[in-house]
Parts: sequence; structure tokens; C-alpha cells
Amino acid sequence: MIAFCCCCCVSFKTRIFFDSFESCFYVIVIHSFGILIGACVIFKQLFSRDVRVRSQVGFEPERRGSHPYLGVDFRTLHTRAESAGTIPARRIRRLFSFQRHLLSSRLLRGAPQLNPLHILDEDYCGQAKCMLERVGSWNFDIFLFDRLTNGNGLVFLTFNLLNQYGLIELFQLDMVKLRRFLVLVQEDYHNQNPYHNAVHAADVTQAMHCYLREPKLAESLTSFDILLGLLAAATHDLDHPGVNQPFLIKTNHYLAALYRNTSVLENHHWRSAVGLLRETELFSSLPAEDSLSIERQLGSLILATDISRQNEYLSRFRTHLDENDLCLGNASHRHFVLQMALKCADICNPCRPWELSKQWSEKVTEEFFHQGDIEKKHKLEISPLCDSEANTIASVQIGFMTYVVEPLFAEWARFSDTRLSQTMLGHLGLNKASWSAMEPEASGSSEEGESEPGRATEEPSSRVLSQGSQES
Ligand SMILES: [Zn+2]
Repeated sequence: MIAFCCCCCVSFKTRIFFDSFESCFYVIVIHSFGILIGACVIFKQLFSRDVRVRSQVGFEPERRGSHPYLGVDFRTLHTRAESAGTIPARRIRRLFSFQRHLLSSRLLRGAPQLNPLHILDEDYCGQAKCMLERVGSWNFDIFLFDRLTNGNGLVFLTFNLLNQYGLIELFQLDMVKLRRFLVLVQEDYHNQNPYHNAVHAADVTQAMHCYLREPKLAESLTSFDILLGLLAAATHDLDHPGVNQPFLIKTNHYLAALYRNTSVLENHHWRSAVGLLRETELFSSLPAEDSLSIERQLGSLILATDISRQNEYLSRFRTHLDENDLCLGNASHRHFVLQMALKCADICNPCRPWELSKQWSEKVTEEFFHQGDIEKKHKLEISPLCDSEANTIASVQIGFMTYVVEPLFAEWARFSDTRLSQTMLGHLGLNKASWSAMEPEASGSSEEGESEPGRATEEPSSRVLSQGSQES
């Protein structure tokens, strides 16, 4: 760089000796070209040095991000065959994306939608607004809401809730920064994932809102708690690759090494959320210590969604309930309740009405089986529940409901014995019965057919939990 500066200085000084502008122009062009060549040489040297240094410490640059023999690009992992479909189909998708971009741009600018070409969009927006009037309903159809908002369900829902709780005004959040943050959050979810996408995040946020309204929480939570709860729900699966932790570990993914094989995905979701908070400077109006506190507590909430730590949280919750010592005036107890609420929101699909619950079950199983197909293709050990030849949607769901969802929601109903809790348990029972009717063998002793005799009572639980983050 010093050489460049000297070179430029010399060229500037020598320029005064030229009489004609044309000559000067040629000198500048020649010097610019020289700088370009020089920059290329230096970059090449730096790159070579980087490669040498990395190879000396055992790194192979091409390995970043995936198994050296797989070369998996997680951005396209769940791209379906139809992505390479016919030209008209691609055009339609492109048009749809363009429309979505236009719509979100207009809304972000706050401009009125007067163009008659967008009457249909306005109509949809009107319906979406109607839906938001009952956003606290447990029957809220997030799939429909996402369609009505042209795939912007997470942005609209989260913004509406923050506004509804008065948090934008209270924390003096800059509207432009907030909307930018929410759009970036939504975009960082992978739409090609059948399950872990922005619609799941919106669904968890809506469920969180329902729990925040429960009397015990509504009476004790502070605005700060509510802000944290909603942000954690919206970002809890940010940049999810659509595969679980065991897959990342066995394919030597760099995230597994970065987080030492512990809560790999959850740590990544949290750090990604912090990255967006800092990039957008959403909390720049708050004192630095408050901003750091939000980041830290956001991490504690998101890390609690690691399903492999389910028993740890459930035991602690059960002990508190047995001893009746949860004091919601205590900030750490409130935080623990928020963690449990987020955990419930994350795996509440089986507690929704059948028509919604069934769709989620199909989507999560599709994601599992897709991972299993990749594992099969690359001759890796197939993860539990991911083998489409050994499992069905019904068998996966019955095991999940029996060993993970029912114990958690039974304790939640003890803590918050309300109509909502009873409704959720009611749906859970009915949905399990519906799956059982489709899978009589699995309903008897849940996956007995696959487990070794005598281990049927223990193994399904460990298998379901070892899935890493089945629905987190
Ligand atoms: Zn989740």
C-alpha cells in the first residue's frame, strides 16, 4: 500500500509537467492500470500466504462449510426437483417474487397502494388485517396468513405484536431499523426447508403471544420480558440449514467445530440474531448495558430450545411445581418461565387443531426423510426417524407426542391451568388418536416394531431426543 501511495504522489507531481490534458489523461490511465495490476499481485500474494498458513496449521480451504466428500450447500439442500422445472414455472415464481418485493417495498416506505394493478394485493392485505384482529386465537391459521401477506407473515405478525404491546413506543424503536431487522430475519430463514422456515418462526411467535397472554404471565411479565420473548420466538431458528446437529457433526461442518458439538444449531441461531441486531442497530437508542443484556438473555432463551436438553428443563420445571416455589416477582424465575413458554411454543404443533397440526407433521417428516435420503446417498449412517423406509409420518408423530410433547404440556398445564392449556391437551389427545388410527402398530407400544424387545419403553424416548432438534 505504501508503494501505491508513493506511486500516486509521484504521478500527481509529475502531472504538472505535462502541457496537454490528453497527456495527463493517458498518464492517469496508465497509473490506474498499474495500480490494478499491483493490487492483483498483492492479493495473489496474500491469498498464497493465506493458503500456506492455513495448510501449515492443518486447514484445507475447500473444506469450509461441509463434509469434504459431500460438498453440501445448505442453501440448496432442500431445493426440490421442481426448482429445475419448466421455464413457465420459473417465470411465475420470478414474477411472484417481484410482486412480493414490490409489496414489501411499498409497505416499508409506508406509501399508499393506489395502483389499480394491485387491487388483488390490497384485498389480500385487508384479509390479513382481519386475521390479525384475532391473532391471540389458538386456531390462528399461520399458513393462510403467510399466503395473504405474500410470504411476509413473520414480518407482519412480529411487527403487529410489538406494536400491540406498545413496545415500539416504550423502547423508542426506530421504525425503519425495526422493519429492516424483521425483513432481514425473515430472509435469513431458508424458504426451501419444508419445516424450519419463516412460517415456523411466525407460528412459534404467534404461540408465544398466546402464552404471554395467559393470566399468570400477563400479571407478572415486564415489557422487557415480553420484548425478549417475542424476539426469541421470531429468531429462534434463524438460518436453520434443514438438517440436525448429528448430521453437522458427522459431516465435519464448521459450525459443529465452532460450537464444539454442543447446541450447535441453537448457538448459531442466537449468534445470527445478535448479528442482525448489531447490523441494524435496532437497540442503539438503549444504554449499551441494556443492549448487551438483551443479547445475552436472547441467547439463554434460544439455547433452551435445544431438544436434547429437554429432560434437564422439564425436571427443573417439575421440581418447581412440586415445591410450589416459582416466584414470578423474581427476575430469574420469570426468565425460566419464558424459557419454558418458548419451549412449548416451539413444539406446540401437535397441540393445534388437526388441520393445522397435520400439515406441520407432514412438513417436519419431509425434512427428516430428506436428510435421510442425503445420508443414504452418501453412505452415512441414517439418523433416527430419518429413514423413510423404516418410518411413517404417523409413527414419527406418535413417538414424538408420547415422549416429548405430552410430558412437557402436562407440566405446563399444571403451571398454567387455563382453558388454553386444556384446549391444547385436548387437541394433543385427538391428534394422537388420529395418527394412531392410521398406524395401529405404532400406537400400541410406539415404535415397538422397530425396537428390540424389552427396550421399547426406553428407546423411543432417547431416539426422539437424540434427533437433536426435531422441531426446534
Ligand atoms: Zn423451532
